[in-house]
Amino acid sequence: MTVARATAGLALLCPRCRGPIEAGGSGAECRGCGSSYPAEDGVLDLRAGRRGAAGYDPHHFPALAAIEGEHFWFVARREVVLGTLRDTVPDLAGRALFDVGCGSGGLLQFLGASGVAIAGACDAYPESLALVRRKVAVPLLLVDEGRLPPLGPGYSLLSLFDVLEHIDDDVGTLRFLRDVLDPGGVLVLTVPAHPFLFDEMDRIARHRRRYRRSELGDKLRAAGFRVLRLSHFMAPLVPLVALRWLLGALPGRPGAVARRQVELGVTPMLNGLARAVLRLERPLVRAGVLPFGSSLVAVATRPR
Ligand SMILES: [Zn+2]
Repeated sequence: MTVARATAGLALLCPRCRGPIEAGGSGAECRGCGSSYPAEDGVLDLRAGRRGAAGYDPHHFPALAAIEGEHFWFVARREVVLGTLRDTVPDLAGRALFDVGCGSGGLLQFLGASGVAIAGACDAYPESLALVRRKVAVPLLLVDEGRLPPLGPGYSLLSLFDVLEHIDDDVGTLRFLRDVLDPGGVLVLTVPAHPFLFDEMDRIARHRRRYRRSELGDKLRAAGFRVLRLSHFMAPLVPLVALRWLLGALPGRPGAVARRQVELGVTPMLNGLARAVLRLERPLVRAGVLPFGSSLVAVATRPR
């Protein structure tokens, strides 16, 4: 993939001076401060230097990529996201989605295969983009952790799938995303729910927090969004996560890393059962009446 294609159609800014950048032969050049940004294997490297503590451990990517096609958690998440987008965005076909923090890329691949146009994606980890470029042929950006992504105004649909909880300044990030959306532009996001469930697993995943439903709604509105849909999902997992929290508090418990391996390695029968059970909650998610669930999905719009 050429650099021109790698950045075609994306509104990008220089991460150093926030000036406009221009794609060239082997990367991009900033017309403002003269910085140059290399491109390799279809990934444009728009990094200027990390700030703050790491938001993620890239060692998790291969394990996630190996299971996300079948694992009930990933299957339920992608189906809820697609259903929620189709319910709340009537002109979805006229928009192209840019994914902020694309991770192992399974959700993006699923949305693309389901007919959602994909404008591109960014992540702060080369390990992520190496996986994603094998799954979707879209412009990919390597960006700095701890800084706002170098996007300029002009997006119609942005996504943040289990990303916001890794970011220190969540409201500031939401406000920035609102600013780069066109009026009428849409943000779709998922986050882990219920602060009382926050445990060692969240710390391993480098989560800064889990969200109350009302808190996420308040933060979206504080950032200038109008909330179109805000619902819990994965209700059957709440007792399981609570049990995990209790077991984690017992003496002689297995280490959190070992427990994480168990969670990622569910047996086919249990996985099938969990997928079937999670399918049952779907109408309640659509109706927005599910009072609990270990995740939240939100769709919000920048008012016209
Ligand atoms: Zn610059």
